[in-house]
Amino acid sequence: MNDLAPFAMPDEATRGRRHPEPAHPFRLPYQRDRERIVHSSAFRRMTGKTQVLPASVNDHHRTRLTHTLEVVQVARTVARRLKLNEDLTEAIALAHDIGHPPFGHAGETVLDECLANAGGFNHNLYGLRRVDELEARYPDFPGLNLTFEVRESFVRHAGKLADPKFAEFAAAGAELLEASVVDLVDSIAYDTHDVDDALGLGFITLIDLEELGLWRRAATPVRRAYPALDGYSLRTAVVRELLALQVDDLLGETTRRLDAARIRTVSDVRGASVPLVGLSETIAKEKGELERFLRERVYTHYRVLRMTASGKRMIHALFGTYLASPELLPVRHGRRLREMTSQPEVVVGDYLAGMTDRFAIQEYRRLHAAPSEV
Ligand code: MG
Repeated sequence: MNDLAPFAMPDEATRGRRHPEPAHPFRLPYQRDRERIVHSSAFRRMTGKTQVLPASVNDHHRTRLTHTLEVVQVARTVARRLKLNEDLTEAIALAHDIGHPPFGHAGETVLDECLANAGGFNHNLYGLRRVDELEARYPDFPGLNLTFEVRESFVRHAGKLADPKFAEFAAAGAELLEASVVDLVDSIAYDTHDVDDALGLGFITLIDLEELGLWRRAATPVRRAYPALDGYSLRTAVVRELLALQVDDLLGETTRRLDAARIRTVSDVRGASVPLVGLSETIAKEKGELERFLRERVYTHYRVLRMTASGKRMIHALFGTYLASPELLPVRHGRRLREMTSQPEVVVGDYLAGMTDRFAIQEYRRLHAAPSEV
């Protein structure tokens, strides 16, 4: 464990677990959280879940899992530099996307529609239910029994602090620095790697990117240092610089804010009334411009929409089929449905949200297309 700054969240100050457990002889609480997340089935299934592009497109663009690993390592670098709790940062980063359904954003949209009468679908709240209830690995408690602080990160990112059900999290005060770092690093990571993947698939070109201030800021020093670079070599060098400059800016700006707000302790962090982790105004503005570009040119590119349209149709069809014929559900989910008769949609939604893209496609074929497969 690194030396902690006084504003870092120390393990011994955790508000603990829902089901009390004896301390481990040598593993710290957030370290145990981190390891439990990696051992969960939801974590492994991120291998087969779409980040932006379905896994079937090729073998080298990002999946939910490789995106998560990029977030983990950048967030850990930031945590180490700011002397935050690295184990807590890593645990939050490893868990941050485990509630995502198959087929990326399209999967979330369609599940939200299917569950409209049961409160809708939110991947953060589903992530919390996975770690609190749905993962079944330990004989002594349901779920992974994670610490308060890791569970809190799901509720905050769902924007549900005002919900009376989550009053204990709202009462904790402002967000811990470890959680704020993961949140910002997540968006730095996906903005950057989505540019890289979109270039790789030919949705955009290096020339298109020249209209963006943030891209030019990264490309200029690379071109100056390596005038002969072009094509793939130029792309990877600039993408690396794009990530590095945002991380540098995050470190500089966050240090400045901690200093300006006179943040000394974790109580100061919990009592802060302004965001403490952030980017400078210039970089934040340029990052916003890049995000608009990605929305217009990549996330809504007709080839991306085509890839996810079939995923949407499959989720929709499976939802209807399970609800109409619950006897088709596997034993564990069928049992839950009988126990929760008032909320059959939630049980079916939970089952669908846990699927990988591949499994959902296979299941769709089994139930809707090929009678010979079982
Ligand atoms: Mg993410």
